[in-house]
Amino acid sequence: MVTADDPFRILREELDAIAAAGLLRQRRIVDGKQQPLLHVNGESLLAFCSNDYLGLASHPALIAAARNAIENVGVGSGASHLITGHHRLHQELETALAAFVGLPRALLFSTGYMANLGIISALAGRGDAIFADKLNHASLNDAAVLSRADLHRYAHNDLAALEHQLEKSEARRKLVVTDAVFSMDGDLAHVPQLLGLCERHNAWLMLDDAHGFGVLGEHGRGALEHFNSCSPRIIYMATLGKAAGVSGAFVAGESDLIEYLMQTARTSIYTTAMPPALAAATLAALPIMRDEPERRMQLRRLAEILRTELRLKKWQLPPSATPIQPLIIGSGEDALRASEKLREQGILVPAIRPPTVPHGTARLRITLSAAHTEEDIRRLIHAIHHAEAEA
Ligand SMILES: *Cc1c(COP(=O)(O)O)cnc(C)c1O
Repeated sequence: MVTADDPFRILREELDAIAAAGLLRQRRIVDGKQQPLLHVNGESLLAFCSNDYLGLASHPALIAAARNAIENVGVGSGASHLITGHHRLHQELETALAAFVGLPRALLFSTGYMANLGIISALAGRGDAIFADKLNHASLNDAAVLSRADLHRYAHNDLAALEHQLEKSEARRKLVVTDAVFSMDGDLAHVPQLLGLCERHNAWLMLDDAHGFGVLGEHGRGALEHFNSCSPRIIYMATLGKAAGVSGAFVAGESDLIEYLMQTARTSIYTTAMPPALAAATLAALPIMRDEPERRMQLRRLAEILRTELRLKKWQLPPSATPIQPLIIGSGEDALRASEKLREQGILVPAIRPPTVPHGTARLRITLSAAHTEEDIRRLIHAIHHAEAEA
């Protein structure tokens, strides 16, 4: 019986409101491997929505490394890193990650979301100030709220606005936080200029390079290599579930910074260490990321084909420096319809709608992978032309 204080009533009302706004989400069920031709909801679709940029998620070397590790050390890590969950494979991975990105030391986290919560809430607290780009990933915003520091958000990549906020701030500790590659637009933060501002105003610069690690830079070292930036005030964070093809995340930087985070970041302390087999798989991914630049070249070539051969009449293709290519449609309904038109042609590109992106900029978010072929891209282009003509 439903009573006035039925605790489920309020949930149902909210769900009804989400549904009425057309914003109810559904999960797609995937069978088989992560690859461009994806078996999803019982049909095979050519997918342009994974973050598996280098095509490593189903790479035989990663599979073999994970399988070997499971056979030798088991599945679960059994405890948190500070108790007995820190396996030698984790230790080796932290050393390898620091070397890979060219920073003194690294610390693992189980996910990027947890890394961001842990790093930011450890480094900033009441009375401190966080300065954040308005288009930052949700986990960075949630982290700022959790930290209880004052949060100042500046317009996307608006360095003048940030400088103004830094000048006015009297906070003891200042932390500038930004996506290095913005996840919905594929554009880059202006890292050298941000670093200059942080130096002038004695602030930390935290970079979330989830989409740059493995992708940017000649050797795939990410945003720091791309911009040739280096400074002890950089707090570098990247995830292992995207280009590295596995799962997890790390922070890298000066030795004292990493020691401090190891001692104080609560999402590292109060959680079970990632399965050591995932560390083994990531250790197998790193040499491939470094020594097979042809994967990055393939990514760039595919992006170039998409950008030069797509001829749009109504929709817009904003510039992007990465394998993330938005196609701006406008209203949420139109974006959904466009996504559906592609699906009818065997292609999966999800529609991204407000509040994930600003109103009026609902879009198709295309992500490319080195595992795609030129023929895949031409199929996509053809399908987009067809969908736009019918829109
Ligand atoms: C994916 C992503 C995260 C979260 O990483 P997970 O490992 O998936 O939790 C954080 N920041 C950005 C910018 C991301 O794109």
